Amino acid sequence: MSYYFDCPKCRSNKEFAVVQTDEGELGCLLFLLGGILPWLLYEDSTKNRVQCTNCGHIFRQPPLPRAPIANYAIAIIILIVLTIGSLLLMAAVPELTSWIPNHAGVEALEDFVAKHPEAVVASVVPLLVVLVISAIIVSIVANRRYRLELRGYFEMEPKPYSEIK
Ligand SMILES: [Zn+2]
Repeated sequence: MSYYFDCPKCRSNKEFAVVQTDEGELGCLLFLLGGILPWLLYEDSTKNRVQCTNCGHIFRQPPLPRAPIANYAIAIIILIVLTIGSLLLMAAVPELTSWIPNHAGVEALEDFVAKHPEAVVASVVPLLVVLVISAIIVSIVANRRYRLELRGYFEMEPKPYSEIK
C-alpha cells in the first residue's frame, strides 16, 4: 500500500519513517521566555516530520486529506464570521450602507427590524449559533469518516524505524 503523499525529492510514496526529535529543552525554554505563540510555532515545525526511506529526505508530512463536505462546512463558518464582521463595521461606519437602494421592499424590511428588534435577534442569533455548531460537527465527523475510508487505500501514518526492514 502506498502513502497519500509523495516524497518531494524522489517522488516515492512507498515508505516513510517517523523522525525522532530531541523533545523538551528548547521547546520548554521558548515557552517560558516567549509564551504560547513561539512555542506553538516551534512545536508545529518539529512535529509531523517524516523521512523518506527511499532517498533519506526529511520533510513535513502534508496535512491529512480533508473531506469535501468538511471544506464546505468551514466555508460556511468563514462566511458567518465575515458577515458578523461586516455587520459590526457597518454599525461603526453607517456611511457604508449608503449603497442600499431605497426600494420599498427594503424599507419595509428595515421597518420590520426597527419595530420588532427582539424577535429578529431571537431568531437570527440562534440560527447563526446552530449553523456554526453544526458546521463544526459536520467538519469533524466528515473528516474522520473520510480518513477512515482512505485508510483502506492509503498508508496515513509514518512508521517507527523499528518496523522498517
Ligand atoms: Zn525520497
